[in-house]
Amino acid sequence: MKQPSLIPPTYDDIAAAARRLDGAAHRTPVLTSRQADAIAGAHLFFKAENFQRIGAFKFRGAFNAIAQLDASQRRAGVLAYSSGNHAQAIALAASLEGIPATIVMPEDAPTSKMEATRGYCAEIVTYDRYREDRMAVADKLAHERGLTLIPPYDHPDVIAGQGTAAKELFEEIGELDTLLVCLGGGGLTAGCALAAQALSPHCRVIAVEPEAGNDGQRSLSEGRIVHIEAPRTLADGAATTHLGDYTFPIIQRLVSEIVTVSDQALVETMRFFASRMKITVEPTGCLAAAAVLQGVVPVKGQRVGILISGGNVDMPRFAALLAGNSVEL
Ligand SMILES: *Cc1c(COP(=O)(O)O)cnc(C)c1O
Repeated sequence: MKQPSLIPPTYDDIAAAARRLDGAAHRTPVLTSRQADAIAGAHLFFKAENFQRIGAFKFRGAFNAIAQLDASQRRAGVLAYSSGNHAQAIALAASLEGIPATIVMPEDAPTSKMEATRGYCAEIVTYDRYREDRMAVADKLAHERGLTLIPPYDHPDVIAGQGTAAKELFEEIGELDTLLVCLGGGGLTAGCALAAQALSPHCRVIAVEPEAGNDGQRSLSEGRIVHIEAPRTLADGAATTHLGDYTFPIIQRLVSEIVTVSDQALVETMRFFASRMKITVEPTGCLAAAAVLQGVVPVKGQRVGILISGGNVDMPRFAALLAGNSVEL
C-alpha cells in the first residue's frame, strides 16, 4: 500500500480497484420492487451489498487496500480496530491473501462478532473501552509488531474499493437521476460519488445519516469537519463521530445534500425489506432506502439508485426490531 499522503483517489483508482476485486468480491445483484416504486413514484434500483462477502460492502475497500501491500508489509501483517463489518472485512481479505491480521476489539464486543472475526483466522486483541483508548492500543501494537493499520474509511485505497459498488450499479443499469448512499465516515459515499461523476455526470448524489449523528450534514453546512460525541442510534455502522480528511473534501465537492432519517424510519424500512423484498438488511443498511421510502428526499418520476450497505444483524435483534420491541442501543 502507498504511504498515506493527502493525494485524493480518482475514478482511475476505482477502475483499478475493480480489476483487483474481480474474482475476489461478489458482483452483487441489483434488485427492483414494484411496491417500492409505487411508494416512491419512481424507478428504484437497489444495489444489494448485503449479499457481498462478509455481508457488507466493506470487503471491497479492505481487499483493495490489502492487495496492494508490499512483501515486507505482507509478512508483518495488518491491523484494524473495529467491532463491526470492517473487522470481518479485514480478517477475510487478509486470510485470502495469506496475510496475518490482528483486530483490536472492546472486550465486551458481542460474542457473535468476535467469533465471526476469529473464524477468518484473525488474532483478536481486546481492550477495556472504559479505561483505554482504542487508537492508542492499536498504534502501540502497530508500532511494536510492525503491522500496517488499515483504517475503516479514511484511506484512498479503501475509498476506491468502496466506489466499485456504484461503478457496478451504473454499468448494469445506466445513468441515474439520483443516487442515495448511507453515510458513516464517508468512505462509501466518497467512492460512490467519484464513480457517479465519471459514469453518470448529471446524477445528484445524496448521503443519508442517522438523525442522532448528523455530523456530516453539519460539516457540509459549516464547511469544516464537525466532531460529535458517539451518537446513540440503531445505525451502529454509521455511528461515527466525524468525517475523514480524505472523505470530507470529496463529499464537499461531489455530494449535493446530506439528509437524516430517524431510527423509527430505519425499523420501518427494515420491515419493508424483510416482508416485501424478502431480504435481511441491518439498520445501517436501511439509511439510503429510508430516505426515499419515508419521503425525506422527493424523487417522483426519477431513476434512483439506492445503496443497501449491509445485512449483518443478530437474528434475535432483527426479530425484536421487526416485532416493534425496543432493543439496547
Ligand atoms: C461502515 C458501514 C457504513 C458506513 O460507511 P462509511 O464508509 O463509514 O461511510 C454503512 N453501512 C454499513 C453496513 C457499514 O458497515
